Amino acid sequence: MINQNYKEITNLDMYITTQTDIKEGVPKRANHILITGKCNSNCIFCFSRKELIREHFPIDIINNVLKKQFDSGCRILVLSGGEPTIHPDFIKIISNAKSTGYEYIRVITNGRMFAYNKFLRKAISAGLDEATISIHSHIPKVQDYLSNIKGSFEQSLRGIKNCMNSNLDVKINIVVNKSNLKDLKKSISFFNKLGIKRIGLLRIMPYGKAWKNKDCLFYNHQNNIQYLKKALEFSRQNRIEIWANRFDLELFKDYPEFMQHSFKFVNEVESKINEFKALTKRGKELFCYPERCNYCFLENFCKELHEKNDKLKKGVETEEDNLYLDNDKLINPIKFAEFYIKRFVK
Ligand code: SF4
Repeated sequence: MINQNYKEITNLDMYITTQTDIKEGVPKRANHILITGKCNSNCIFCFSRKELIREHFPIDIINNVLKKQFDSGCRILVLSGGEPTIHPDFIKIISNAKSTGYEYIRVITNGRMFAYNKFLRKAISAGLDEATISIHSHIPKVQDYLSNIKGSFEQSLRGIKNCMNSNLDVKINIVVNKSNLKDLKKSISFFNKLGIKRIGLLRIMPYGKAWKNKDCLFYNHQNNIQYLKKALEFSRQNRIEIWANRFDLELFKDYPEFMQHSFKFVNEVESKINEFKALTKRGKELFCYPERCNYCFLENFCKELHEKNDKLKKGVETEEDNLYLDNDKLINPIKFAEFYIKRFVK
């Protein structure tokens, strides 16, 4: 049930990120909106924000936000959560967004609700264009273990098949972790045989429940790099489009076609902008520093930012510093991210 005090205790704006997204090869502004804090799975690596209210957000507030973001130029809508398909007004939210004028609507989901064909057909009729379905292994017991729900593999798989049969655009997201890394190539092959041509590989993040369950989930990135390379090699040979997120940028020296777009890297830094500003302005460390850095794709970036910050404090300035310093002579973290990423982009 929706909390009646919702409007007093929160503001949906805090759960919205306006990001850049790629549609037809062209980066466009996308409105990412969390429509619920509830979920029907219980993933052991969930890094949902801890402050997220475990409720469905009211549709009138969601509609206002959709309109506001559309008026500010967003044309792509990404619905996420929690698990957005369990929001009681999920279908209405899609049709409202289409009437507002959104050109493309994507849902990020575990796909379990799409095992129900009638529900899926309603979502498509309302205007759903794409389902990005999170399923982390082709081995039922591994998926059930990661989602912490017995039978979730079978449900998500049925959801994927239903979406494919309905000609919906389907992408798979795999969170790469200790329990699925060694079989990653086989998982990609399995989903590719179902007709999936686009697969997102997301490196596990050292936050939320993932960090609590770190012993069963995190792996040494360098010592296991061969499994990632095998997966990328297989994808290259089979013309599978891989969207790699949050992996060490060094990995893509041999696979430049799979490197995440540079704006995604900048988006990631932007998502922590207040923490990075506190570091460059007041020397306040990020809460995750240094314990989690070995498991974080921002490790080298953060290291360089720290070093540069220390040098500036000691008054050591170079000409290139002008590329990322603001008028107050402090590092602008976004400009620094743009400067940093350039060396990896051909
Ligand atoms: S590398 Fe940066 S963002 Fe990542 S865990 Fe360390 S301090 Fe946090």
